[in-house]
Amino acid sequence: MPFTIAIIGRPNVGKSTLFNRLVGKKLAIVDDQPGVTRDRRVGEGHLGDLDFAVIDTAGLEDTFDDSLESRMREQTEAAVKEADVALLVIDGREGVTPLDEHFARRLRKGKTPILLIANKSETRASEINAAEAYRLGLGDPIPISAEHGQGLSLLYDALRPIAEKAGAALTDDEFADAALEPLPDDAAEAPKHLQMAIIGRPNVGKSTLVNNLLGRERLLTGPEAGITRDSIAIDWSWKGTPIRLIDTAGLRRRSKVVDKVERLSSADTDRALTYAHVAVLVLDANDMLEKQDLTIARHIVEEGRALVIAANKWDAVENKTEAMKKLRDRIDYSLPQVKGVPVVTLSAMTGRNLDKLMDTVLKMYGLWNKRVPTARLNRWLEGTIQAHPPPLVAGKRIKIRYMTQIKTRPPTFALFAQKGEDLPDAYHRYLMNGIRETFDLEGVPLRLYLRKSE
Ligand code: GDP
Ligand code: GDP
Repeated sequence: MPFTIAIIGRPNVGKSTLFNRLVGKKLAIVDDQPGVTRDRRVGEGHLGDLDFAVIDTAGLEDTFDDSLESRMREQTEAAVKEADVALLVIDGREGVTPLDEHFARRLRKGKTPILLIANKSETRASEINAAEAYRLGLGDPIPISAEHGQGLSLLYDALRPIAEKAGAALTDDEFADAALEPLPDDAAEAPKHLQMAIIGRPNVGKSTLVNNLLGRERLLTGPEAGITRDSIAIDWSWKGTPIRLIDTAGLRRRSKVVDKVERLSSADTDRALTYAHVAVLVLDANDMLEKQDLTIARHIVEEGRALVIAANKWDAVENKTEAMKKLRDRIDYSLPQVKGVPVVTLSAMTGRNLDKLMDTVLKMYGLWNKRVPTARLNRWLEGTIQAHPPPLVAGKRIKIRYMTQIKTRPPTFALFAQKGEDLPDAYHRYLMNGIRETFDLEGVPLRLYLRKSE
């Protein structure tokens, strides 16, 4: 049995959204059948280095009738019994409702540990006041926004000790031992599909680009060859590489929030990103890199997706040299966390440079999957520390032990250090930049976690 998390709560607090957030790219499982009553869904979830099963009990509202309460109770109890931890989700904007209290009372009776989650807490601090929360008897609420992916590190921090206790996460000591095993060089699992999303503000040319990309492949391989589509993805291939193109227009049709035009595009982006390995951010080269473009770019990077910037409508740009320089400068300045991120100028309309775009997408996908062998990493680390030792903290030098890559997609590293928590941000950046340059990870979002070691 994997470590199991049950998501519990009254309707509309965001359980499904949280489920999707945790399960992420597992397209098939999230894709529920319309019209089929489902009592719950189970998916494989990930958060940081934690892997688990998630049970979502949402969907009960579809069968709203007098038996709702008893069915909820049954479902909830069954899910909680199976779970190692239950997340009781409440709406942070609305505060604690009687139904929330009802859930809390029931959950408190069981043996399963419970975390109280105040969802929809993106804009301001949670409205839940201490007295209210106290009444639930479940400790301090963890403020998150499932929809915007915020507060997930708080959730991680709360889950980690529970997972450790359940034996589902290595303790720091065990982790240190395990990490001494060098990772095999070829460990990057070959995926079935490269999942690629085309994202950007309205009118930058996304549809034109999709049509042109699909049209070209059709010319190469014969009519309709290899293209199948469902409501949200188009399976397609580029010169023999299978690619699943996440179609934001399809997502739009499925979205529950069609009435809110304003929210639409960011919700689309979020959904597309949930599924994407590589996100192509399309800009209109004539008014490029507006604030909204940067917001989307940062979001892509925060989500750990490989990013490729496509400066579209390049055909209409008059002074191309100057435009390129300006764009590069702004990107380097505004997105230092993905230094060297690729920018491809293109014309979706004429098809110019689409080859280059796709080559870049494949290349970034490769880097995103890259594994650096532990031995190489530590040889580099030793030299790096010698060249520029970590600063003194309270008169003592922080002792860095070693580093290992714990994950790919994106490349994620763990640094073991005594008093690692005191490592200044600047030194963290210094190490990240070093990794990026030394191991040719230009433009890829990287993660570096600090782990305590004696
Ligand atoms: P469930 O019935 O508990 O599964 O709730 P859903 O996941 O279907 O979400 C209910 C509504 O709340 C949807 O319109 C979501 O888009 C919205 N929602 C979910 N999470 C958040 C969040 O973090 N912030 C905001 N503002 N809305 C959210
Ligand atoms: P979307 O809203 O991002 O899907 O954008 P569309 O694909 O609908 O394109 C918006 C407008 O930009 C349309 O009028 C397109 O003809 C135009 N457009 C798209 N790509 C290019 C291009 O490469 N060059 C020029 N000059 N116009 C383009």
